[in-house]
Amino acid sequence: MPEAKQTILIVDDTETNIDILLDILNAYDIVVAIDGHSALEIASEDNPDLILLDIMMPDMDGYEVCRRLKNMSHTKDIPVIFVTANTDEDSIERAYEVGGIDYVTKPFKPRELTARVKTQIKLKNLLSDLNFIASYDYLTKVYNRRKFFELANKMFVEEKDNLYAVMIDIDKFKRINDTYGHPIGDEVIKSVATTIKECISEDDLFARIGGEEFAIICHCNSQEEIVQKNEFIRQSIEKLEVNVDKETVVKFTISNGIAEANSDTDTLDSLLKRADAALYEAKGAGRNRVVFRS
Ligand code: GH3
Ligand code: MG
Ligand code: MG
Repeated sequence: MPEAKQTILIVDDTETNIDILLDILNAYDIVVAIDGHSALEIASEDNPDLILLDIMMPDMDGYEVCRRLKNMSHTKDIPVIFVTANTDEDSIERAYEVGGIDYVTKPFKPRELTARVKTQIKLKNLLSDLNFIASYDYLTKVYNRRKFFELANKMFVEEKDNLYAVMIDIDKFKRINDTYGHPIGDEVIKSVATTIKECISEDDLFARIGGEEFAIICHCNSQEEIVQKNEFIRQSIEKLEVNVDKETVVKFTISNGIAEANSDTDTLDSLLKRADAALYEAKGAGRNRVVFRS
């Protein structure tokens, strides 16, 4: 499959410059802004892969545009290459200070400009791949253990009232691997992750924290509500089937352990330990069940 074309935002108040850049960068999808304000708007809405930013513009200059881009969470990672006729060191230094990643001077050298653009787009793609790998689990595409603890700590600090932790573990999973093989085990893990995600709300933190173990941190109005929510998850998993071959399907269950945060005495660690103890209790009581530990 060919890769999607990358989008470059060109910001320049001079039509001739825009025309030259359009010509040089004809391999890319190009969007154009002729002043700083519309540049900020387009960058926010279109999320381009790279911005070529003129410095000298009336109203808001390129430095200010860049400074604002770097201050907004959704635009701060878009690489900015400054484009200008200024070649003095002060101007160049300032371009880097406000967050520019590179600097090209007019008149343009087409091959050099293309090479610099290519390099920055490649770097940006690598960085976003790296960010994905650092935060998401490769198999299930839900948050991984590292991201779970980062975000759980934030939620824990922000609001401990009505905060719950849930530990979920697939029952007798080893047997599935041993009977049907590792690839089928992987399919089971994926279908469990997808189904849990469908059962919870966008605001709930959900992650794969171990081989066949998942965790949820969420706010809920009451103990009854969190238990119900987990009962719903448990029953949804119970209904799933993964096809092994034309004749064989594998079915499976999960156990859920829930604990409520005590805003005075709990740390995230002690809360998770209680949820884990509840999970252990669910396993001991025969599996395929939800246990709440107060
Ligand atoms: P219990 O009901 O007590 O949880 O029993 P269990 O068999 O599920 O528990 P156990 O922790 O002994 O087994 C977990 C198994 O999960 C062992 C390990 O080989 C397997 N596993 C861990 N990660 C993966 C994975 O990514 N893919 C597959 N297919 N198996 C995995
Ligand atoms: Mg298990
Ligand atoms: Mg386990």
